[in-house]
Amino acid sequence: MQGLGKLLVIGFGPGAMEHITHRALEALRESEVIIGYNTYVDLIRPLLTGQEIVRTGMTEEVSRAQEAVRQAEAGKIVAVISSGDAGVYGMAGLVYEVLMERGWKPDSGVEVEVVPGVSAIQSCASLLGAPVMHDACTISLSDHLTPWDTIKRRVEAAASADFVIALYNPRSGRRTRQIVETQEILLRYRDPKTPVGLVKSAYRDRQHVVITTLEDMLNHDIGMLTTVIIGNSSTMMYEGLMVTPRGYQRKYTLNATEQPLRPHERLRTEAEPWSLGAMEARAAASGTAAGQSAAGAAPAGPATSPAGSDAGGATAVLVAERPAPAVAATHAAAAAASIGAAELAAEALGRLAAGGALAGEAASRWLDAGPGAAAPQALERTAPAPGSKPPLFEVGVSPGVGNKKFSAAQMALLAQCAGDDGELEYTPEHQIILRVPTFEPDRLVAELRAAKFIVVPIGDVIKVKACDFCNMEKDDAVPMAEHLQAVIGGVSAPKETSVALNGCGMACYGAVLEDIGIVYRKGGYDLFLGGKKFGRNAHPAQPVAEGIPGDEIGGIVERIVAEYKEKGHPNERFHKFFKRVGVIQGFRHVDAPVTVEVNPVCGD
Ligand code: SAH
Repeated sequence: MQGLGKLLVIGFGPGAMEHITHRALEALRESEVIIGYNTYVDLIRPLLTGQEIVRTGMTEEVSRAQEAVRQAEAGKIVAVISSGDAGVYGMAGLVYEVLMERGWKPDSGVEVEVVPGVSAIQSCASLLGAPVMHDACTISLSDHLTPWDTIKRRVEAAASADFVIALYNPRSGRRTRQIVETQEILLRYRDPKTPVGLVKSAYRDRQHVVITTLEDMLNHDIGMLTTVIIGNSSTMMYEGLMVTPRGYQRKYTLNATEQPLRPHERLRTEAEPWSLGAMEARAAASGTAAGQSAAGAAPAGPATSPAGSDAGGATAVLVAERPAPAVAATHAAAAAASIGAAELAAEALGRLAAGGALAGEAASRWLDAGPGAAAPQALERTAPAPGSKPPLFEVGVSPGVGNKKFSAAQMALLAQCAGDDGELEYTPEHQIILRVPTFEPDRLVAELRAAKFIVVPIGDVIKVKACDFCNMEKDDAVPMAEHLQAVIGGVSAPKETSVALNGCGMACYGAVLEDIGIVYRKGGYDLFLGGKKFGRNAHPAQPVAEGIPGDEIGGIVERIVAEYKEKGHPNERFHKFFKRVGVIQGFRHVDAPVTVEVNPVCGD
């Protein structure tokens, strides 16, 4: 615009000449007037080439901005300088506020250019190692222009949300309480050993860097020229450096040249149990799998002899078109399936324990306390970083296979395990989900198991469920339910899958509606595959075999699960899988009859 000058709002970085951007240097050279706080003008003095200088005191920011606008409107090219970035507690906002106050329009008013600079959060972080790295925020503790209550709320929100926090303006000669109160708030949410970096005068003459902890930080010098960087729950100290890992675990393994997940696998929902997509999938899965509680029990072992196996050697009557293959699984095959199942369960636990690595790793370990198999070593263990917050551990707990009753002592134990920081959720499946932050999930699980709880992972796993066997009056099939829980309960699956066993032909717990239904009747087991309990096209499972002997049903179900696990697409529900492949273990899928359109016109 003719007659009008230009406003250049320039962030010149932390202080050292080499950290000023090329554009900032150019902009300084272009300008005719430099307006800034005395110290900053002194810092950039070597770069000046005869420009007019308007120096002001630190508290005269508003008059600085007004003066800048005035001079630009009078036709001058004016540089307003800020340290770091002018848009971070700098002059950019004030300049725009003054302009807005005057009804400035970008098209007709003075031209404005904000030249970005390296802010203290970045310059200080670089001297500390890599403490920011992940989601971070800046909070200025100066309450000159912001109410202290607002600042406190922000500290609290950032602390609770596990942000890395850069505290600007942490303390001055007169403002000394703010940093003390801030530390108090942070200690309510973070471990006292959380790494903290204090950087004074980054890239300036008196640069001073200290790495300390949240509990110890106030024993060091913190002043006007210090930026305080508080780590998050996974920030580590290493050789005098502060490092925050790039992301949550298991997407990469650092000591391996070959990554466990190939590039395309890394973006799958299963590799990101913490993602919104995975949460939605879990929510959808739990909505679709109502019914009775997971069954399971004390280690029954694969050798458990199911009741009913002496039922006169009844042979299976196949409803399927094609006969099932020989149902008597060899012992070796059964054993192999069990071991495979345990590995898969470990993987499932690792993926699904909420809150990331430690919980997952521990989950893989607590599995070996469970029935079935040797400890799977698929997942690595890393020691908790000093100062890190315990990850959330999530697990399903139920009182027994058929037993749906909790004792008072069990209830008390659950309450104690949840403590103040955890929660207990009662699900429609006779199961309590315990969520609690802990570094020792295996101890927790051992305690729960000692109190005769069934402890199972949550999510896309095989859920073994059972009826209450008419209050244990019809308990012939209880050992089979226990056996199934022992060998396939918790095995990871493409999607959450219910294997439900009902203890008599009444099947009042709805086994025939589940993904895999087993109904004990007249000494044998009827098998149902591919039910869909919910939705517009809900349908019962297809009856595929009747009267399977007790010593065969376990092997059959295990092999069905193994096939689904192996060939199912990620997120493919069991009924869809059955329909797609057409035959599972010899059981053929039969399409449901086509629905008949009924003309719904009223009065006809
Ligand atoms: N615009 C500046 C921030 C100004 S507020 C920027 O983007 O960096 C002033 C605060 O910034 C100081 O109290 C201090 O907390 C921080 N700060 C600015 N420069 C710094 C430096 N060189 N070293 C350490 N902290 C610095």
